[in-house]
Amino acid sequence: MYKELEGKTAVVTGGSKGIGTAIAKRFGTEHMNVVVNYFSDSKGAEEAVRIIEEAGGKGVAVQANIGEESGVKKLLDQALEFFGSIDVWVNNAGVENRSATHELSLDDWNRIITTNLTGVFLGSKVALQYFTDNERKGNIINMSSVHEQIPWPGFANYAASKGGLKLFTETIAMEYGKRNIRVNNIGPGAINTPINSDKFLDPLQYEETARMVPMHRIGKPEEVAAAAAWLASDESSYVTGITLFVDGGMTLYPAFQDGKG
Ligand code: NAD
Repeated sequence: MYKELEGKTAVVTGGSKGIGTAIAKRFGTEHMNVVVNYFSDSKGAEEAVRIIEEAGGKGVAVQANIGEESGVKKLLDQALEFFGSIDVWVNNAGVENRSATHELSLDDWNRIITTNLTGVFLGSKVALQYFTDNERKGNIINMSSVHEQIPWPGFANYAASKGGLKLFTETIAMEYGKRNIRVNNIGPGAINTPINSDKFLDPLQYEETARMVPMHRIGKPEEVAAAAAWLASDESSYVTGITLFVDGGMTLYPAFQDGKG
């Protein structure tokens, strides 16, 4: 546990399942106040709030589309109304869809970019506005992916969104460093969440993915949440502008395993 996180307030977008719920739960364990954003799954968000409170924190579920400016403003307003301030903003919500690029519709391109990149810009913007207006130390954590670095055929929109996120985070980390606002990415590898759980239930597909990971296993949402807690804490007080990969080594060119090449 990080003692300094007790009583601090975090907004977690896309908190009704997967990595977002794991972060919300971990922040609850840290006795933080958590705004659990959801898009349509109110039951999942209420369950996350229950888990947070059981763990010793406080939570509130707030519906908002983070791809719209009005959505992220609502999250900020609700955080201030319920908890009085914000300290940490986690842009976690994200979506993906598979399509050969020559068949990818403009709608699907826009949908992924709007949530994964524009949504992070909008969330970061309201958080930065709040931190600067109030001359507060601030902390922004963006959920990127190994695909900010590794190309992903069939997912050009997703890879473009996460690749864009790499330089977005580095740029605003540089822009706001003097104001004591830290901005970092987490780059998960293959993590077992609702986005891909069907795939990992099939032993053949599990093995196919595990072979791409030097640690030879799929990660758990709690392992990503642990990285979020560290980045939110003062233990990482001199860390800004990085991507902390939580990927079992997936970004280490696993094709070279066993001394091949
Ligand atoms: P998930 O599908 O389980 O959860 C994504 C959440 O985002 C859902 O709660 C969904 O409702 C929410 N969301 C989507 N669009 C939204 C919008 N417009 N407004 C508000 N909420 C919205 O996925 P996950 O695996 O938990 O992924 C979380 C993040 O981690 C994503 O950014 C994803 O790209 C990233 N990631 C996941 C993995 C993985 O293997 N699971 C790997 C790398 C990166």
